[in-house]
Amino acid sequence: MSDCLFCKIIAGEIPSSKVYEDDVCFAFNDIAPQAPTHFLVIPKAHIGSVSEVSADNSAVVAHIFEVIAKLAKEKGMESYRVVSNIGEQAGQSVFHLHFHVLSGRDMTWPPG
Ligand code: AMP
Repeated sequence: MSDCLFCKIIAGEIPSSKVYEDDVCFAFNDIAPQAPTHFLVIPKAHIGSVSEVSADNSAVVAHIFEVIAKLAKEKGMESYRVVSNIGEQAGQSVFHLHFHVLSGRDMTWPPG
């Protein structure tokens, strides 16, 4: 999608701190980290949010979770949180599906 920030990051039009890339997904460090480790994993295909996941594209989400587990193991992350905000009230600010992966500090539950 031409006016999507994360599509531009995938295309290399906006610089990012890349963590991982394959044919399906791209991972990069969050520009405003909320934990010592905070990266985002996003599909290369534009999907607006979890609310647009369906039988047609859910294999992409399954793949992303495989990648999250692999990256966490590689980075020695024993405890971490995966978050996806859906809609403005929940805190979504970029409308391209993304999973925050946060680790390295104590976290509270429920979230604020
Ligand atoms: P959300 O608010 O859940 O939609 O998450 C969007 C995330 O994207 C926020 O944590 C931002 O800090 C992050 N973000 C925005 N612009 C960039 C960028 N250029 N590079 C890396 N992360 C970004």
